[in-house]
Amino acid sequence: MASYSDCHGCALCLLSCPMWLQKRDVRFSPQGIAKALQHGAIAEDIAEEVSTCIDCGACDLLCPEQIDLSAMISSLRSASTCEPESEVEPAHVDMGGCDARLHMHLTADDLFIIDALSFHAHYVQRLAHYDALRKSTGCQMNLDLNRMAIATGVGSRADAGGMFDVTSQIQWLMQGRSFERVIVENSEDQVMLAQLSGKPVICLSDLIRSEKKDA
Ligand code: SF4
Ligand code: SF4
Repeated sequence: MASYSDCHGCALCLLSCPMWLQKRDVRFSPQGIAKALQHGAIAEDIAEEVSTCIDCGACDLLCPEQIDLSAMISSLRSASTCEPESEVEPAHVDMGGCDARLHMHLTADDLFIIDALSFHAHYVQRLAHYDALRKSTGCQMNLDLNRMAIATGVGSRADAGGMFDVTSQIQWLMQGRSFERVIVENSEDQVMLAQLSGKPVICLSDLIRSEKKDA
């Protein structure tokens, strides 16, 4: 298993890292954390950087050295807080499966907010599902150019600790997009998206339930 010592500084992990996008400071990125460790930093030295990570899992998929960056950050967090190491479990997301009715009820006016952690944890299967959904409905999704999901950070440890600004993250996520309705996979995103978009926001599980009832 590759470790921080294998980081060669390509900076690919910065491209989809919400922590870096918000701070624009390489210290607040997986690369910065790996490089700090290579230069002898201990967990307490980089506690602020580690606390700003929202555990979205995008960096794990981008690292060409296949360093388990999420696990590295989780173990540093546990070392600096003395809390037992805990894995952040992806929320269960009912994707609507291959439900053709879901395809019928999304439109090009919808912004579909994918739950980033769950998406990145099952990337290959989930990407195929969303590609098909996007193609058949024309809806927009919170995917970036690397086809990583842009996380909102709502409900993350960093959000709860006041280390990550979810308002500016969501505003950035919506910037330049035109949509009339928002569909969220993670119900925790619902309130903030409604407040900041001013549009109706529906949780995917409710949409699927209502479709099943109507059938
Ligand atoms: S898990 Fe997300 S926020 Fe944390 S370092 Fe990786 S990409 Fe950045
Ligand atoms: S993508 Fe991997 S190898 Fe490249 S800078 Fe980030 S941690 Fe280092």
